[in-house]
Amino acid sequence: LPLTNRVLHIDLNHLATDTSEIPSEAVRLLLGGGGVGLYLWGTSVRPEVDPFAPENDLVISAGALTGTIMPGCAKVTAVCKNTVVATDDGRHYVACSVAGSRDFGQMMKGARWDHIVIHGQSERPLYVLVEDDEVQFIPAEHLWGTTGTESGSAVLREQHGADVGTMVIGAAGENRVRFSMAVVDLSHSLGRAGVGAVMGAKNLKALVVRGTQGVPVADPAGLVTVAQKTVTNVKAWDHLPVWSRLGMGGGWSTFRYTQYPGKWPMDRWDRLYGEEKRLESLEKVLACSSCHLGCRVKWRIPDGTHAGEVGYGSPYGKSATGGQLLGIEDINQMIHLVAVANAAGLDFYTWTRLTDWFTTLVDRGLVDADQPGIRVERTYPCYEQLMDMTIHREGIGSVLAEGWIPVAEYIGRDPQEYWYAGINKGTDFIYDARSARIHPLTFSFITNPRPHHGGTHSLSTAAGKPPEQIREQIEEWGVSTEMLIEESPEPKLQVGRMTKYTEDAMMVRNALGACSMYPAFGLERMHHLLAAFNAVSGEDLSLDQLMATGDRLFNLLKWLNVREGFRREDDRIPELWLRPMESPEGVIATRDYYGQHELSRADLEAMLEQYYVERGWNPESGCPTRAQLRALKLDRLLGAKQTGTEK
Ligand code: SF4
Repeated sequence: LPLTNRVLHIDLNHLATDTSEIPSEAVRLLLGGGGVGLYLWGTSVRPEVDPFAPENDLVISAGALTGTIMPGCAKVTAVCKNTVVATDDGRHYVACSVAGSRDFGQMMKGARWDHIVIHGQSERPLYVLVEDDEVQFIPAEHLWGTTGTESGSAVLREQHGADVGTMVIGAAGENRVRFSMAVVDLSHSLGRAGVGAVMGAKNLKALVVRGTQGVPVADPAGLVTVAQKTVTNVKAWDHLPVWSRLGMGGGWSTFRYTQYPGKWPMDRWDRLYGEEKRLESLEKVLACSSCHLGCRVKWRIPDGTHAGEVGYGSPYGKSATGGQLLGIEDINQMIHLVAVANAAGLDFYTWTRLTDWFTTLVDRGLVDADQPGIRVERTYPCYEQLMDMTIHREGIGSVLAEGWIPVAEYIGRDPQEYWYAGINKGTDFIYDARSARIHPLTFSFITNPRPHHGGTHSLSTAAGKPPEQIREQIEEWGVSTEMLIEESPEPKLQVGRMTKYTEDAMMVRNALGACSMYPAFGLERMHHLLAAFNAVSGEDLSLDQLMATGDRLFNLLKWLNVREGFRREDDRIPELWLRPMESPEGVIATRDYYGQHELSRADLEAMLEQYYVERGWNPESGCPTRAQLRALKLDRLLGAKQTGTEK
């Protein structure tokens, strides 16, 4: 099977289409999915493009294994310039955002399009229907401003069939709220990259895809063998009964530490938002097309003002953390706010944290309570109204819709002062390192060009795993285990160094379309993905080559952001992590992976130094060297002039 990736180009300026193919040599170097997506974006968009400009292409890529039977391989990646303001001087980073899918990825592959690139900007709202080789541009004035992500999906499925894949934006995207998302197949989101606002700027309400040709596999029997191994691991997983019952909520025992905001005692949080409380609204667990875990849910609010309201997604962590931050004890009120945010395509994490910051400053008399269109106070009705104003950019909502750095300018404060989780490159983190400890995932909030929580999952995401388990994972990355983990005199994880390999593994996963939940629970290993890739493509890649590709892809993402002016000074260690959290559970300080030592700024700086050394980057600039770009063949892919490697 040739490794050629087919690309559908959709030109919204002229309502026209074109096609291209990625040469197999480039695919061999990039694998597919988000890897090729970065290449497509980087070779067609100029640096410093405004994220709202028509020239900010949106590249949607299905992973190399997406749509196959390989468990958890259903991911699609979007690449674009993020609309979120990342720096005080107004820079934006190039981001890739990853979502699962029930239909969308499978349909893209079934239509034999590995990538869909949206160029330009339509004059009027429309949606694009792709049915195999047929593309239609359909007016969407009837959907714009009137339908949310769920109701919009429902209308589109009614119109074009229940089996289509849908990617839809809501009012937040239409109104260019900078931290807005696109929703895929009702319950999955392309978040943290401004995808909703980019689609809104393009006047693109939705992308609807149907593919009827199936997904080609070079060695079906080989794929069945490796898929069965993963299924066997899932079935033998001792936590599966809890997970099958609760979806993502099955992670409460870990989550209650990693996302603890430090305001309530744990027993109060358990009582208000714990597993038993979750079951009251959970209607059923939902899963991506090939998933044997299932982490999404359909919920129905059982009682109260919003009784009967139905929603889709993963409201668990959002409502629990948001509830504690905002001081809302009624889980159903918070689930309702999640539903409103999902329908609008608003990033709930960012919104709750920004609102908590703003409201608390009002409480403390540091910001005026009387704001345009509303008197701000710490009450649920006020939150409901503030969310609506943010989504529609009304009054003070038009400021909140701009995100952390513009809000900080408006109130005259530094966003680094915010007391929960931490902020880097204009983006709030999901986990607070003081509660979650320092491990490769939390550390990558500093090093990753796009700080995010997804994808960098590995066994070490849960703090304190026994060294022998972690060693097994490291071994297949082809690096010295002694270098990354020590056992005596006490266990010690070399987090700075190890972050490089978890980031590389994440890039491989994004290229293949593989979910990061499986490795977090030790249910699937890199050699399984390798066997699956070889079975699907007919290639004979080695594990070393696979990991080397991860390194190439991470350097590609990094280089696209170096082009935007990002340097070592943008990889900031959050001040917050150095300020112990005063909580009802006691004082919680940032500690090492095994919880033995409190970490200082010097410790974190030393980890950062080790990270750059492991990457082979210039530690002063925090950038890849020209020799490295040449060695990774990125000069050949991107052009010697662009990478500065012509000499
Ligand atoms: S664990 Fe969740 S995101 Fe991952 S493949 Fe399964 S349903 Fe999709």
